[in-house]
Amino acid sequence: MALIEVKDLSAGYENGYVLENISFSLKDGEFLSILGRNGSGKSTLIKALQGLLKNASGQITVDGEDIFSLKARQLAKKIAYVPQIFSFSFEFSVMETILMGRYIHQGRLESISSSDSRMVEEVMSLTQIDHLKDKKIAHLSGGERQRVFIARALAQDTPFLFLDEPSSHLDISYQVEIYQILKRLQEEKGKTILSTEHNINLVIPYSQRLMFLKEGKIRALGEPEKLVTKENIKEVFDADVEIRENIHSKLPEISLIPKEGEKS
Ligand code: ATP
Ligand code: MG
Repeated sequence: MALIEVKDLSAGYENGYVLENISFSLKDGEFLSILGRNGSGKSTLIKALQGLLKNASGQITVDGEDIFSLKARQLAKKIAYVPQIFSFSFEFSVMETILMGRYIHQGRLESISSSDSRMVEEVMSLTQIDHLKDKKIAHLSGGERQRVFIARALAQDTPFLFLDEPSSHLDISYQVEIYQILKRLQEEKGKTILSTEHNINLVIPYSQRLMFLKEGKIRALGEPEKLVTKENIKEVFDADVEIRENIHSKLPEISLIPKEGEKS
């Protein structure tokens, strides 16, 4: 069973808390998407849930165990994390980067088992990066790099998958594809997925629940059909929208309305 329970979590950085009194649970096998404006605390929450922030109070348990008492290696067996990536230089090749995701499963660093190789092949094919395997990370495009880091997290083969804006840098075709891959992993391998995203329309069909964060607090948490309303979007994002029904999924979809004075 994969379950994370969060009770009264307040967390932040040296200059104080960013998140205040966060309580919720991430249910076994669900796909939960966190949405909110820039600076609302999405990345901070994803980091805090892994016990990565020193300035934190409250309770977080993973399958009943206190997150703060888990060693890095134990945590790496439970949660794979794709951080919000910006451009940086990274000397490793694509293949080496993905293999890093396998380290927690290896007895010794230098030994690569046949199951490691199989997993690496599988995730490279899934994320369509086979052709890039010998390239250096520093020489990839933003979207190619994003797919490599997603592949590395998949290679880690954990029950929980945390992704911070997995669709950023991706073209519209790969955006949909990444979410389809995640959905397949959820359905076929029972993974529990927590992800942040700016593109609300993109995540609605894939998420069982959405979390709207505003100024470090949970403003709403629930099924997309209940949460995606004109009023909620105005309150959380300060954006004027119309809600319509997506012709394929029959789920709500937002349509932006230009702000006053910006009408053409
Ligand atoms: P975005 O959509 O832009 O990624 P976000 O919702 O992920 O935004 P966070 O990165 O969680 O936002 O940031 C929340 C707040 O915490 C912001 O006010 C930010 O300035 C602050 N913050 C983030 N990282 C640090 C840090 N390392 N030290 C101090 N403050 C930080
Ligand atoms: Mg962020």
